[in-house]
Amino acid sequence: MNYPEPNLDDLYRELILDHYRHPRNRGSLENATAKVDGYNPLCGDEIEVDLLFDDDVIEDVAFTGHGCSISQASSSMMTDAVKGRSKVEAQALVAAFKRMMTDPDVEPSEELGDLEAFQGVAKFPVRVKCATLAWNVLEQGLQKNGASRVEEN
Ligand code: ZN
Repeated sequence: MNYPEPNLDDLYRELILDHYRHPRNRGSLENATAKVDGYNPLCGDEIEVDLLFDDDVIEDVAFTGHGCSISQASSSMMTDAVKGRSKVEAQALVAAFKRMMTDPDVEPSEELGDLEAFQGVAKFPVRVKCATLAWNVLEQGLQKNGASRVEEN
């Protein structure tokens, strides 16, 4: 079951739909250092994120999954945003993204760039977990090698 699409600002809606229809970094990594899958039972969104670290750098990242446009577009844009970054930089982005989703009165951090497209989702509390799922999964992958799972509740 997926919720109807929320009424977001047109430009941002286009960006989200573009990533939903043409996801970046979609697939699996055979040599992944960490594999984390995540599930949002509220909406039925599922994703798996594969990460390949080279020391402290995210050398490669890919995802598979299905669910609403917000969950899948957020996964696609997350992988784009963190590929090639250090774990510390990626963790800072996770924090900035989650702050934007939970505190809509605060001006989003500039480092978020296009990820600001999801700011409008914060107005729809029931959809916030759709947007943050990929980031919670990434956060767990940054902390732990091997396979693990994130379940939103
Ligand atoms: Zn969803």
